[in-house]
Amino acid sequence: MSKVQASSDYIGRFAPSPTGPLHFGSAVAALASFLQARSCGGKWFVRIEDIDPPRERVGASAAILDALLELGLKWDGEVRYQRYRSSAYDHALKQLESAGKTFACACTRRQLGDGPYPGTCRNGVATGLVGRSTRVKVDSAEIGFDDLLQGRHHQQLVRDVGDYIIKRADGLYAYHLAVVVDDAADGITEIVRGVDLLDSTPRQIYLQRLLGLDTPKYVHIPVVLNQSGVKLSKQTEATPIDPTSSRRVLIEALKFLQQAPPPKLNDQTRDEILEWAVANWDISSVGKVSRVYAA
Ligand code: GLU
Repeated sequence: MSKVQASSDYIGRFAPSPTGPLHFGSAVAALASFLQARSCGGKWFVRIEDIDPPRERVGASAAILDALLELGLKWDGEVRYQRYRSSAYDHALKQLESAGKTFACACTRRQLGDGPYPGTCRNGVATGLVGRSTRVKVDSAEIGFDDLLQGRHHQQLVRDVGDYIIKRADGLYAYHLAVVVDDAADGITEIVRGVDLLDSTPRQIYLQRLLGLDTPKYVHIPVVLNQSGVKLSKQTEATPIDPTSSRRVLIEALKFLQQAPPPKLNDQTRDEILEWAVANWDISSVGKVSRVYAA
């Protein structure tokens, strides 16, 4: 199943949050989504998910884009930035509000702890309290989808998540709402991203349904773990990739993705490596289990 969708209608994307520079784990995710798009002649967009300024790191967006270019991962069109998209998110929120699917919530994270939202403010905030965040009301329908690598995945949102936040108490839009609105606006047909987001997908599909948007296909790839078994991430200060060794990074990422790059690639140029990778890309070899990899 190397050519998943042999059509140039394919539109994929890489959507990093600018919370730090590109590390090996995000380079793997970028490369996988790029190869999946290019191997079927599709488009590949880059979206900087900068909706959360408090978590943003100065200079991270530029560093990520520079690193992608160093790796030869050239996107189509303009880079998208979520910070310019608030009117689209306002519009989606209004749509959900008019459908009676939202409510204001006065609970703090500390009050709630972990676990599904217990419905505290669903029928109105208690007297004297002010609703500051907005939650979407979920129902008891089972939301399932077939992930190309992970297989069938489903959740019952009432049981597993509860009503979830779509606009935060600090006025910022939540990732789930923004990503759904932007994936639809960009006409994304398939989302290739890390398996750490697998559990987020039913929440996103639920919003797509409420907003009358198409659901793309999903492919959740294994994530790169550090020696302690924790996902490499900007938050855990994963080492940024060295942009001067793009050929090595690409080959190591291809190895992580189990594409078996032949030894001759070590002597080839970056663009030749990418050409080989596009021509030989086989998503089914990537597997489903996250693993430790010391690049
Ligand atoms: N912005 C998210 C991240 O950097 C990825 C979102 C997505 O691919 O849907 O983890």
